[in-house]
Amino acid sequence: MTSGTQIMEKVLFGVAKQWIAGSTIDEALATAKKSYRLGMNVIINKLGEYHTTRHQVEKTINEYKTVITSFSKWRIIGGISVKPTQLGLLRSKKECKCNFESIIKAATTSQTFVWLDMESSEHTDDTLEIYYGLFAKYERLGIALQANLQRSQNDLADILSIGGKIRLVKGAYRENAKTAFKSKGEVDRNYLKLMKILFKNGNEFGIATHDSAMIEGATTLAKQYPRKFEFQMLHGIRDELKLRLIKDGFALAEYIPYGTNWLPYSIRRLKERKRNILLLGSSFISRHKI
Ligand SMILES: Cc1cc2nc3c(=O)[nH]c(=O)nc-3n(C[C@H](O)[C@H](O)[C@H](O)COP(=O)(O)OP(=O)(O)OC[C@H]3O[C@@H](n4cnc5c(N)ncnc54)[C@H](O)[C@@H]3O)c2cc1C
Repeated sequence: MTSGTQIMEKVLFGVAKQWIAGSTIDEALATAKKSYRLGMNVIINKLGEYHTTRHQVEKTINEYKTVITSFSKWRIIGGISVKPTQLGLLRSKKECKCNFESIIKAATTSQTFVWLDMESSEHTDDTLEIYYGLFAKYERLGIALQANLQRSQNDLADILSIGGKIRLVKGAYRENAKTAFKSKGEVDRNYLKLMKILFKNGNEFGIATHDSAMIEGATTLAKQYPRKFEFQMLHGIRDELKLRLIKDGFALAEYIPYGTNWLPYSIRRLKERKRNILLLGSSFISRHKI
């Protein structure tokens, strides 16, 4: 018999699958190939986070290495984006850094750019420390910074001072008011402020947002400060806008997650947009004829 939780999970997956390439590496690469053919850069992420066992961590490292070596077979120049807690940050910072290094070494031989995703603020210091240690040795390495955190302006200045590469995001994790901007207005204002600093003083950065106001801000700044940057958007969101930006001559990367651990990622996407919750409700109703 199917339990209520199983039904709910099925309905949720029905909505979530628009954001996820599939469960296998080949499905991720096939999706990446389609986007690549449309003129997008691609960044692959294996779903999963907060790993605590050596087995989970090793499996993740091996999968990322397979993605890296498969890019050339699929004739894609791509990147990967990795969460520190999927490489063992909860086990030890030292272990996590070693694991990143082994992935980056594999990436370096195949021109693959590696991004460090930024998770909730309790991991920001460790993630930055790992980044600084590795960026001293490997250039093709970037890090996400979250505009919803009050500390990010200082972190951005520190990263720019060493020539580091930044992906600016609004921030997907629930944070407390002592350390974070809470209202959309405040987060947006900070995003625009940090973006301006990036255009003035940075180069080779990612403007990762689906928000038309932020994107318009970036296209205006790009005229004033000609910099090497790319827009970055998640797979399955604002596909028409992606093509329009490419047509207008902007570089754009699509972040493509794959894997079976799709629930936490999908819940973050659902929470970002009221319309997604409504979609979830209506697909539940139509499935069960409530
Ligand atoms: C490439 C990439 C990498 C990321 N990496 C990280 C990371 O490492 N750490 C982290 O904390 N977060 C990360 N995020 C998530 C990010 O922090 C935000 O949670 C997420 O991008 C939503 O914020 P937004 O900038 O799109 O603006 P929002 O304020 O969520 O949305 C603003 C507007 O965008 C439009 N929009 C949003 N979603 C849709 C949609 N589905 N369809 C149509 N229009 C839509 C709507 O007009 C909406 O009002 C990443 C995001 C991207 C794009």
